[in-house]
Amino acid sequence: MADVTAYQKMLSEFMKWQKSNEKEYVDLWELINTKKATYKDAQRYSKVVADKWSRLLQKYLGVDADIKGLTPKEIEKCIENVLRRCYANSSYYSSKVQEVINDSVNINVKAVEGTIDKSRIDNLIEKLRNGEDIANDVLITTENMWLIEEGVVENISMSAVTDTIEANAKLHTDAGLTSYIERKQGSGGCCDWCSSVAGRFVYGEQPRDFFKIHKHCNCVINYMPSRQRWQKITYSTDAQGNRRKNTQDM
Ligand SMILES: [Zn+2]
Repeated sequence: MADVTAYQKMLSEFMKWQKSNEKEYVDLWELINTKKATYKDAQRYSKVVADKWSRLLQKYLGVDADIKGLTPKEIEKCIENVLRRCYANSSYYSSKVQEVINDSVNINVKAVEGTIDKSRIDNLIEKLRNGEDIANDVLITTENMWLIEEGVVENISMSAVTDTIEANAKLHTDAGLTSYIERKQGSGGCCDWCSSVAGRFVYGEQPRDFFKIHKHCNCVINYMPSRQRWQKITYSTDAQGNRRKNTQDM
């Protein structure tokens, strides 16, 4: 099957790249191995793999690629495979971050991965299909290339991170633990919509759409199993000689 071949080519190139010891990629795995990784690193990882996958999509299905013999259906299947694989790469790393967090607070629950929302894939394919060029067997054209370049793959990859946070927060909450989640805008802020959902919450009390990220969103969503982890605790002694505990948000 032609679509399998095109996807297999991309996959083998991706796997070769994984073994190529590219510094950023190696460093990110080193953070997992040394148990220092955070969800911020998961977000970085999701961008690194998304960048690689979108380059491969352009190389193998873009205007300069030889895709004769691929039917539109096969091209769609190929794109779907890539998006699913990218999501899986990203959610796997995210679950490793969750393991680091769980270990750090002795939570004896296995970390889980997020589950892809198929409508995200369907939406992208629908948009590409509306580019019409699928009829000419050229799916990603200069006209609809922006769909890939504008960070659609990245957005799907990043959603794997937030889906993983949500899945673990839910799992811990269902197990009777209290989970704390935080959404923070990047330096310089993000947008009005993001500032309306930013903040720290007990899982279950967050605003609707708290986990949603838009294209080029610079927000970081974090999961911490303990509120103490993000509070600075100091002690002071009052006039009566009583020791007081002061907590201050970091
Ligand atoms: Zn944002």
